[in-house]
Amino acid sequence: MRILYRGSLARLEACAAHGFNSFVYLAGPAFILIACALVSLVAYIYFTVNIPYLYPTTSDGDSWTTSTARGASLVWAVYLLVCIAFHYYMAVTVDPGRVPDEWGRGEEEDSMQADDGLLFEALPNDGGGVHSAAAAYEPPISRQRICKKCRRAKPDRAHHCSVCKRCILKMDHHCPWIHNCVGHNNHRYFYLFLIYMFTGCLYYCVVSIRMFRQEILNNGQYKWPHEQARMGFVFSFILAVAMALAMGGFLTWHTWLVATAQTTIEYYNNQVARMVARTTGEVSYDKTKRGSVRKVQTPSLRTRDGGVVGLIF
Ligand SMILES: [Zn+2]
Ligand SMILES: [Zn+2]
Repeated sequence: MRILYRGSLARLEACAAHGFNSFVYLAGPAFILIACALVSLVAYIYFTVNIPYLYPTTSDGDSWTTSTARGASLVWAVYLLVCIAFHYYMAVTVDPGRVPDEWGRGEEEDSMQADDGLLFEALPNDGGGVHSAAAAYEPPISRQRICKKCRRAKPDRAHHCSVCKRCILKMDHHCPWIHNCVGHNNHRYFYLFLIYMFTGCLYYCVVSIRMFRQEILNNGQYKWPHEQARMGFVFSFILAVAMALAMGGFLTWHTWLVATAQTTIEYYNNQVARMVARTTGEVSYDKTKRGSVRKVQTPSLRTRDGGVVGLIF
């Protein structure tokens, strides 16, 4: 009876997980549209409300300092917007890392050659890229990791994404906001997007705080062009504060992961390994922390002659 109960509970859980993963996948385009709409709204409010408030045009004409400050602010804002848009676009469109079809089906001799303990060193330089990155990880066939869902071998640091329904090289996590996994090929774009997004939100908060205090909290004398501008400004300011806090936390977390040479998945796996080691009295050793920051950033990494194949930062 108990076995039957457990069996149906497991089926129910699997069904719920499948439903949730399908929802995340189907809702992905909507998440992207929402993200683009929110950033566009804040940018529109900045150019049409914040800039005229910060640098008002007087009837005598603008002073040199006002025009210069306005010009510098506009250039800086456009620069931030271009960087945010570019890195977001790349994080969304770049394939995070597909396990090459022929991987794991090679000759045992080649696999043995690769398993020389140099986890991040590529085999003889074949031009780099995903293929050489995967090849560099290829262990002997007897020790290969197998993905139960794809029913095939997968390299070290590759994980199966239940939303994308495939294995991803150096998978960090699946992000619904980019409708994509964060993995080997788009990790740098995702990380730089976080940096620019956090900088943009922080900048908007700093330039808006005086206006928010004087004109919204203290009902100042500013003549709003229309009521929507006032509402749009309040919404943008609150959104920017919330996003700056969220992005700041997320950026700190990912900076720490990069600095300690771990992905999000590896961090949780390492925690479990540590707990198990503690209960068994063994010493846990995390081989991804063995080297420098560069190792986690560039899995295609170094050739034997010392050249860097896949520079990420
Ligand atoms: Zn898989
Ligand atoms: Zn995914």
